[in-house]
This record gives sequence, C-alpha cells and structure tokens, in this order.
Amino acid sequence: MGDYDFDIAVIGGGSAGYATARTTAAAGHRTVLIEGGEELGGLCILRGCMPTKALLHAADVRFQAGRSQLWGLEPGEIGFDFPAVMRRKAAMVEEFARYRRGQLQDGRFELIRALAKFRDPHTLQFDNGQTVTAGHFMISTGSRVADLPLPGLAKLGCMTSDDALQLESLPKSIIVLGGGAVALEFAQFFARFDVEVTVLQRSPHILKAFDDDVAGEVETSFRDEGITIHTGCSLIDARRDDNEKVIVYECAGAQHEARAEAVFHGLGRSPNTGSLALENAGVETERGRILCDAHMRTSAPHIFAGGDCTGPHEIVHIAIQQGEIAAHNMLYPAEPRPMDYRMLISVVFTDPQAATVGLTEKAAKAQGIPCLTASYPFNDHGKSIIMEAMHGFVKLLCDPESGEILGGVCVGPMGGELIHEIVTAMAKRMTVAELAATPHYHPTLAEIWTYPADALTEEITR
Ligand SMILES: Cc1cc2nc3c(=O)[nH]c(=O)nc-3n(C[C@H](O)[C@H](O)[C@H](O)COP(=O)(O)OP(=O)(O)OC[C@H]3O[C@@H](n4cnc5c(N)ncnc54)[C@H](O)[C@@H]3O)c2cc1C
Repeated sequence: MGDYDFDIAVIGGGSAGYATARTTAAAGHRTVLIEGGEELGGLCILRGCMPTKALLHAADVRFQAGRSQLWGLEPGEIGFDFPAVMRRKAAMVEEFARYRRGQLQDGRFELIRALAKFRDPHTLQFDNGQTVTAGHFMISTGSRVADLPLPGLAKLGCMTSDDALQLESLPKSIIVLGGGAVALEFAQFFARFDVEVTVLQRSPHILKAFDDDVAGEVETSFRDEGITIHTGCSLIDARRDDNEKVIVYECAGAQHEARAEAVFHGLGRSPNTGSLALENAGVETERGRILCDAHMRTSAPHIFAGGDCTGPHEIVHIAIQQGEIAAHNMLYPAEPRPMDYRMLISVVFTDPQAATVGLTEKAAKAQGIPCLTASYPFNDHGKSIIMEAMHGFVKLLCDPESGEILGGVCVGPMGGELIHEIVTAMAKRMTVAELAATPHYHPTLAEIWTYPADALTEEITR
C-alpha cells in the first residue's frame, strides 16, 4: 500500500473506527487508530446507548414496582436513592469501557492518543506535534451536541445528554426540547423519577421519522404517565424569571410559555468534523457532514468515512457496518461492497418501545411503493394482557404480489427485542405466508406476529 508509516490510519476510536481498525488489522495491514478523547470508549459506551439504557432500566423497574398492585402485590411506596442509581450506571459503563479499552490496546493495531487533523492528503498532524503518514484513511470522528437554535437558549443554559448523565440530583421540573429518541428517552426517565416533564416538539408528532400511528401510541402512554407534550411548536424566546427558566413558543397561531427549573437540549447532534482541516485532504462536506458514496468513500478516493460524522443514520449498528464496509473497500477495491439500508432498524427505548425495520408506511407512500399492511394490537394479545402491557401494536408491510415482507413495526412491550424476528425474516426474504407457518411458542409476546402475517397471507391468496 505504498511507502507510508502505516497502510491505514483510523481517526476516532468509537463504534465505526474500531470496526475498521480490527478488520484491516485482521487482514494483516499495518493499522494505526488515533483517539483524541479524554477517555477511551466512544459515545455509545461512555455517553450514549449504554448509560442511557442503564438509567431507563432503573426507571422501568421503579415504574413496574409502583404498579404492582395490578397483580395483587403490596410493595408500598417505591422510593429511590438517586446517587445510587447513578453509581450503578457508572459502574456498568466502566465495565463496558474497560472491555473496549482492552480491545483498543491489545496490540492488533497501534493506538495513538492525540487529536488529529490533515496536513496534506496523506499526512496527519497531531496536537502533540507528531505527524503520521498513511496510504488510506478512515474518518470516524462521531458527532457533538448541535448548536442551539436561539441565542437566548444558549444564554439560559440547557442540559445536554452529557450533563444529564452526570447529574448528582434531579430538578423538580424540566422542559425537554425535541421529540426524537434521545429527548423522549430522557423525558420518560425524568418523569419516572418524579420530575415534572414538558416536551416541546416542532413537528406535528413526536418521533417524526416513524409512522404517525407509532408516534400516537408513545404520545398516549406518555400522557397517561403525566408527561405534558406540545407538538407543532416553534421556539421564539428563552429567558430566566427568578428561579425558573421560561421557554416562549408559538403553537397553532398563539404564543405560550413553559416554565421549569431546567431545560433539556434534545434537538439533535451535528457531525464532529470542524477541526479536521478536511480542505487539506480534498474531503468535501455539506453542513459539516462528510459526503460519501455507497462504498463509504469520500471525495478523496483514498479516504473513507463512517458513523455519525457522515450519517445518514446515527445508530451504532450502522456505524459498525459502515466501518466494516469501508475497511473491505480499502482492502479489496476490485470487489467493492455497497452499504445496504434495506433492513435499517430503529429502536426508541421508551415504554412502550418503538421499533421499525425496513419500509415504513410513510416511506412507501412518499416513494410510491405498492404494499399491503396489517396490524394487531397488544391489548388483544394473551401475553401482553398478562403483563398489563397493552399500549401499542405490531404491523407488517408486504409486497402485494409475492407477499415478501418489506417492513415491520413493533410499538409495545419489548418492541426492540421483538422487531428482530422481522429483521431475520427480511434477511432471508421470507414471505408473510412463511412467517405465518413458522412455529411460535404459546403464550409469548412473539406469537403476536402471526396475526398480521395470517391476515396478509389470506388477503394475497384471496
Ligand atoms: C444519549 C444518546 C443515546 C444513544 N442511544 C443509542 C442507542 O440506544 N442505540 C443506537 O444505536 N445508537 C444510540 N446513540 C447513537 C450512537 O451512540 C452513535 O450513533 C454512535 O456511538 C456513533 O459512533 P461513531 O463511531 O460514529 O462515533 P463515536 O463513538 O462518537 O466515536 C468518535 C470518536 O472520535 C474521537 N475523535 C473526534 N475527533 C477526533 C480527532 N480530531 N482526532 C482523534 N480522535 C477524534 C472522539 O473522541 C470519539 O471517541 C445514542 C446517542 C446518544 C447521544
């Protein structure tokens, strides 16, 4: 791969970067991974998926215990020790991070702890003055919390997900800005630890990437738990009023105010590419996002990118897949592999969990893709009735001619687990008839899929 210090230099040691480095090193190529963060581990382990799911699990246990009289139990008041909740989360994160530190330092590839930027298309300059040359590069520098849309909000001070994961005590009330996964997961976590929560969302529904019926189920159960949700809101101003933070917003043509002790910034993240001097390497971006083709190749043919710094889906399994695809295409340019988003999975770990794979009804309509759909509600299903988990439904989308499954939705108990049955079915290009004929144990949550599969099979063969 040329006369360079390394064959491959990977910038950023999160999910995408580690996937590339382990793949190129395993293929016998001289690989260096450069990580500039204070801690090793990446967003998912340190400040993303794992700590948030640990907190949500604690919130869920408290919530379930609090309604255990539904099953005839008498637990009394379920109190909590918030610092202990946070300590348990921190201990788990440290366990996951220790494992990842081991993987990054076990000698399969070289690890350099420094912040990197491009000096020229084949040279990286580090903040410690050192330089390194390489034949190929992987940019996997992740994302950062997006800038706030109003100067007043920045002045007011908003809690980010990073801040929320370091809290020592809870506010009495909080306004959550945004209606995406991170915003809603934190909203429910706060609410289940007795914080008064108001969600302000700009779109007509929360979870705007999902079908409206999915968002509707999550909205209903949030409202049942006492969370206030206002949708269709434009933020106008932010100010402080004594000890309260005030958000001024417009909704249905009228001006309103929401007041709380704290404001949570759930308005998304931006690509973390500003300090890479990408112009020195000929790598093009659009509003900071690195532009890549389906092979994860940037505008500079020897430089690839993956994960949150390029998108279009800021999710761990996509970051890993992009990292592996980039590695393959660096190593075997004669047999290039494209990214395939046919089976894109999205999960929001609220209760009910909202999970989709593949085609949604919204996307089918927008793209004019013909499909049949059938749904079945959890409030008419044996196992979910036993569990008192009756919000939500499953939905299948299939090709009207062949019956091939094109997509699935599960909003309900363990939606993030149950969706994987449809992921597997889609991976094998199964039809609804094949799914309906697959044995399902009784009584399980999973057997709910057989109802829409049966209904669609009947519709196609009619
Ligand atoms: C609160 C929260 C919850 C989430 N929950 C989920 C979830 O449940 N499921 C899911 O799939 N996704 C979830 N995500 C998203 C997921 O965490 C990200 O999509 C994923 O971690 C991105 O991986 P990455 O490799 O692109 O970036 P990162 O893991 O952020 O890695 C980038 C690395 O690059 C380093 N770096 C940056 N600049 C430089 C430089 N110039 N030089 C050297 N190193 C540099 C950084 O220090 C960092 O370690 C969540 C995100 C958040 C914020």
